[in-house]
Amino acid sequence: MLINFKVFRYNPDETNSKPHYKTYEVKTQPGMVLLDALNEIKWQQDGTLTYRKSCRSGICGSFAMKIHGINGLACETQIEKLKKKTIVLDPLPGFTVLKDLAVDMDPFYESLELVKPYLINDDPPPDRERLQSPEVFKVFSDPIGCILCASCTSSCPSFGYDKDYIGPAALYKAFRYIFDSRDKGAEERFDVLDNKHGLWRCHTIFNCMDACPKNLKITQGISMLKRKIVSEKF
Ligand code: SF4
Repeated sequence: MLINFKVFRYNPDETNSKPHYKTYEVKTQPGMVLLDALNEIKWQQDGTLTYRKSCRSGICGSFAMKIHGINGLACETQIEKLKKKTIVLDPLPGFTVLKDLAVDMDPFYESLELVKPYLINDDPPPDRERLQSPEVFKVFSDPIGCILCASCTSSCPSFGYDKDYIGPAALYKAFRYIFDSRDKGAEERFDVLDNKHGLWRCHTIFNCMDACPKNLKITQGISMLKRKIVSEKF
């Protein structure tokens, strides 16, 4: 089946370059994902097209983009399931375009860093492992599936409005560690979370969950974090 791919193109390093769409026609086969079509375009039609890719298995998170209006992973999205004759591809909204479909992910990683995404515990290590019950693990096990694709943060209207907002992905990461019984770093994270660019910028709009390719319960985790901060600080 012949499908048109209307792809966002922009090279800020090129003089007189303006953002525009370029349409490519690709002969698709059942089972092809968007990554296959983009590879076909780059390898057979236009080598100047730029996009990120790595594992092709929905694990590295590098292939997130706006797919016909909704953020998602191009390596997991089957072309035939979109049921479109023309498919529009844009870079992730809210981030600076480096070239074509590749955006600058530094602000996303800097927000993650702010919430200290690692176990904090200065207690002397026990003889064997720090024990944890399956029930406690279940509370924070969902965000372990996060692949850091930034689809959630990019789709959040609050992030679009406030570029200093740390965004749902960073909040969800904070939830993952604060609810881990082995972690003692909640207090250290509260300053970053409890301010106008933190937790309270989330208005429970649920766009993040609609965009998450791993179907993670992001809003639920953020709400639990809000309740914890209110109960512990006030
Ligand atoms: S929570 Fe979901 S959408 Fe957000 S970064 Fe993780 S995998 Fe991507």
